[in-house]
Amino acid sequence: MYSSTFYQQSPVAVQNAMVSARNFLVRSLRNSSKFRLESNEVASTQWLNTDDLAQLQLKRLQAMVGHAALHVPYYRDLFATAGFLPKQLVCLADMQRIPVLTKQDILHQGECMLAENLRDYRVATSTSGTTGMSLKLWRHLHSINRENAFVWRQCNWAGVKLGERRMWMRGDKIVPVNKTKPPFWRYNIAENTIMMSAYHLSEDSVEAYVQALEKFDPVFGMAYSAPLAFLARYLLNAGRRYRGKSLRCFITSSETVTDEQRQVVKEAFGVQIFDWYGSAERVSAIGTCEHGNYHILSDYGFTELIPQNDSTYTLVCTGFDNFLMPLIRYQMSDSIALADSSYACLCGRHFPVVERLIGRSEDYLLMPDGRQVFMVGGIIDGLDNILESQIRQDTPDEVRILLVPVQGSVVDEQQVILQARQLLGETIRIKVEWRNDIPKTSNGKFRAVVRSI
Ligand SMILES: [Zn+2]
Repeated sequence: MYSSTFYQQSPVAVQNAMVSARNFLVRSLRNSSKFRLESNEVASTQWLNTDDLAQLQLKRLQAMVGHAALHVPYYRDLFATAGFLPKQLVCLADMQRIPVLTKQDILHQGECMLAENLRDYRVATSTSGTTGMSLKLWRHLHSINRENAFVWRQCNWAGVKLGERRMWMRGDKIVPVNKTKPPFWRYNIAENTIMMSAYHLSEDSVEAYVQALEKFDPVFGMAYSAPLAFLARYLLNAGRRYRGKSLRCFITSSETVTDEQRQVVKEAFGVQIFDWYGSAERVSAIGTCEHGNYHILSDYGFTELIPQNDSTYTLVCTGFDNFLMPLIRYQMSDSIALADSSYACLCGRHFPVVERLIGRSEDYLLMPDGRQVFMVGGIIDGLDNILESQIRQDTPDEVRILLVPVQGSVVDEQQVILQARQLLGETIRIKVEWRNDIPKTSNGKFRAVVRSI
């Protein structure tokens, strides 16, 4: 909706109304009896002991694997080829008999990944460009209600409630990029939220953001960590602190939060960051509890930890809730370091404790007009047939978009340029380059956005 010409050319008041109308739907889902059922359940499963959690996981896996074997063409073939029968799944370790699923598999399989008996109602979504690949995914209502319930629980852990006054600063392109004067935010009345653009932050505009925030006085914020830290550093450099009275916390997600970001946000805003690790694939989630510890949410999905040479683990995950598009033993690109196994978190939950997330982090791009543009991986969001991508700025006046297409497929270059323009504007040259692969960093990590100037 935000990229439509009608929205882009409408006056601010109309845009506010459109943003609110769109989010009435989100709110109505959260007011449904199905949502209440799921939120009651996740409120209770968080207190299960280790054995009961393992039992719950096994039950959920048996349901998902049995369903996939019956209704999903990809798994029917896969299980037949691998000689695997769902009834052989009698303990968690049996999951290892199922081959791992990669992003490439999903790209190649397309609709063969979907359950034949659930295709009538589906919501399309895609993985974000932060992973360098835009993957088309479908979910159904149960999965959306479950996800909302887990977000609701994360808010409880952070001491806030959905519906309370909220600041939102994520990848939504709610303000047309060619706007050079405030407001760089829109009001979502349905959810009591000020939605701020993460794409208009600059030395010139940052004061207006701070003032709007102090005036709106949110109880909590849901934001990407990089633009949030930008606001915080501005306040500290100006010798100021945030003056809103009601703020209790920020909930961040999608990017790895650095220690420096946590520290400047704490200092400038006087509140803590509760980080949430999720994924568009909805196979695994890691939340932050009241004591500031990361927990792998064992009631959200089955997360297998694959040890690496450097005492970290990569993740192979199976989601419990999206029966429309089951992702079983899906290889994630992020990795984690676990806390010592003897460590018990004071919160009393038996979810495993993670010491560190090692995953997605992006550089920002610096526009000739002074804007620091965050989350530019979003340029490839929703585009088909891209296996891998990297967005690079090696000179002040040019951004290069490196793309690896799926073999034998066509990527719409004009659409890539158009989406890039919607984020970056007209003041910088944009070039698309086709590649066979994207070089990794010296430690083998993939970077979706690189700025070398
Ligand atoms: Zn805890």
